[in-house]
Amino acid sequence: EVAVLRLGHRPGRDNRMTTHVGLTARALGADRVVLTGNATRSRETIEDITDRFGGPFVVEQTEEPKRVVREFPGAVVHLTMYGLPVQDVERDVRADHRAGPLLIVVGAEKVPFDVYERADWNVAVTNQPHSEVAGLAVFLDRLFEGRELDWEWEGATHRVVPKATGKRVEPVDPVDSSNGDE
Ligand code: SAM
Repeated sequence: EVAVLRLGHRPGRDNRMTTHVGLTARALGADRVVLTGNATRSRETIEDITDRFGGPFVVEQTEEPKRVVREFPGAVVHLTMYGLPVQDVERDVRADHRAGPLLIVVGAEKVPFDVYERADWNVAVTNQPHSEVAGLAVFLDRLFEGRELDWEWEGATHRVVPKATGKRVEPVDPVDSSNGDE
């Protein structure tokens, strides 16, 4: 299992970023995102997308995000510009993940120092300041070595038909999707 924890959320200001953390986690192969208790708007948006375009993907909320980090029954990766370069640690993280679940933590504002200490790896996607959404996307793609790009979705009501030009979204036949053919 791969879970993503969005640590911190300022309602209003962070709504789009928190939503995008969830959508990016879902699209690039994580199983679950955990948001803070005040991020209900973002949870609803992520769940709407999952209902329409498929899963499985779980959205949870917690009043105690630091406890989620502390008590996670597996390895913890904290994405931070101050960490070790992703290209130097990705092999070790992949090896560890073969043996068990992985929690990926991304921040909103300043991340408390005990998260740096609890993390098994503090990982930087470049040591330049940028975005939790970009950091998460690159990290997941490295973790899964690109295989997530071919993964398929179950239980979707709609799917995009890839086109060189233009936009096509078609309804998914519910019989096909329950057969797992979609
Ligand atoms: N200033 C905050 C701090 O010192 O912790 C970070 C704010 S940053 C906008 C929000 C989040 O983006 C961070 O918590 C981290 O998860 C992620 N992030 C930003 N730059 C990153 C990088 N180069 N590598 C990995 N994650 C990064």
